Amino acid sequence: MSVGIRLQYPPFTRLAGSSVSGGDVSPPVHDAAFAISRLSAEFTDRTIEAHFSHHLLPQTKEQLRTTLLFCAAVYLVFAITDVLALGLSPLSLMLFGCRAAVAVVAVASCVTNHLHPHSVGRVYLTASVTEIVGMLAFAPIVLARPAELSWHAMSMGLMVLVVYLYIPNRLLYALAIGVISTLVFIAVALVTGRLTGQEQLTMVMLLSLANCFGFIAARRYNIIRREEFRVQSVLKNLSERDPLTGCHNRRYLQQELLNMELSRARRFRLSVAVIACDIDYFKSVNDTYGHAAGDRVLVAFATLLRGMIRENVDNLIRFGGEEFLLVLPETDLAGAVHLAERMRAALSTMTTETTPGKSVGVTASFGVTSVNFANVAARFPQEAVIELADQLLYAAKRDGRNTVKALEFYGRPGLHVASRAVG
Ligand code: GH3
Ligand code: MG
Ligand code: MG
Repeated sequence: MSVGIRLQYPPFTRLAGSSVSGGDVSPPVHDAAFAISRLSAEFTDRTIEAHFSHHLLPQTKEQLRTTLLFCAAVYLVFAITDVLALGLSPLSLMLFGCRAAVAVVAVASCVTNHLHPHSVGRVYLTASVTEIVGMLAFAPIVLARPAELSWHAMSMGLMVLVVYLYIPNRLLYALAIGVISTLVFIAVALVTGRLTGQEQLTMVMLLSLANCFGFIAARRYNIIRREEFRVQSVLKNLSERDPLTGCHNRRYLQQELLNMELSRARRFRLSVAVIACDIDYFKSVNDTYGHAAGDRVLVAFATLLRGMIRENVDNLIRFGGEEFLLVLPETDLAGAVHLAERMRAALSTMTTETTPGKSVGVTASFGVTSVNFANVAARFPQEAVIELADQLLYAAKRDGRNTVKALEFYGRPGLHVASRAVG
């Protein structure tokens, strides 16, 4: 049987700052996926928006805490103006209760976010609840002190700007809270009947402007943050992926993946398998058909391997030249050998079209190892697992190529494998 592979050069990118474990969990996405909605100023792709929010979560929570506590303190300090306007009376005490309620909600929001450190949804929820309570609590203050309505309108304008610009929240939530609270304020102001028609018009215009400017500035800020994230993601992708095949590169393996997978497997006492594979006599493909044809064979090989592994679980790395490495979480030696054997067989029956009408077939050799942390407690250098897979690969080469060699890794680096490898 001969399997033809259509070649593609995927413009892969990887999301910046992802720290979730378990395979290619920050999936490669196309650049177009970073589109930003002009209205909500969020990524239209919900997965990317979620990555972005999680990436910024520690910073957002810190900002939210500082802003809420500051706003609560300012709210309380302004109780002085109630006392100056009303004297120490039951009414000023009632207004103090309203102000204190805002401070309590702000502190409760900070505590909630502290108790749920990984919840993005709670950050937005607590921000919105505090904003709503703060705006609602302003209404009785305005009603109790109608003589200072123009000052209240000025405060309202500032509070609207705080909602849009300083309290971190989703833009559309801020818009809804800003607009509705402005309408409520205007209704309350009209109920007091203290303003002339001209003053009412001026107040409505100024508050509308505060909403417009606040929304536009917040929208710009949100878009700029996301643009930054997109650029960061693209740069991270460039540094972590091989441009020819779209696979992760050795730098990613050594700086992130290996440590992440081995640590996770050790923590949960699981198995991790590593398969090293290398195309046989690849130099002769280049020599016979040209470098471009060699490139096509490499891409076809990577595409074949990628199609046979578990999406979002297993990892395919271009280790160098025509050598690839597979890191397979929660896979024992038997499972990895079975997969390597299927890959070897599939490649040996596959041909790649190098030029129209011309195809070339290649084989590959495989070295397979697995470490089961249920049995291995000893610490070992992480590279030792890869070294063993590599030694087994070269044992397969020595044994005639187009073959699979496998050996369990027991945590003792530097084993001489040639005589112990099983084909
Ligand atoms: P073996 O069976 O022992 O692995 O023999 P081999 O010919 O495959 O191995 P060797 O190391 O002698 O040659 C590897 C070749 O792979 C040489 C190098 O030019 C070629 N190569 C490495 N990277 C690329 C690449 O990105 N594109 C192409 N076309 N060739 C590459
Ligand atoms: Mg080779
Ligand atoms: Mg090689």
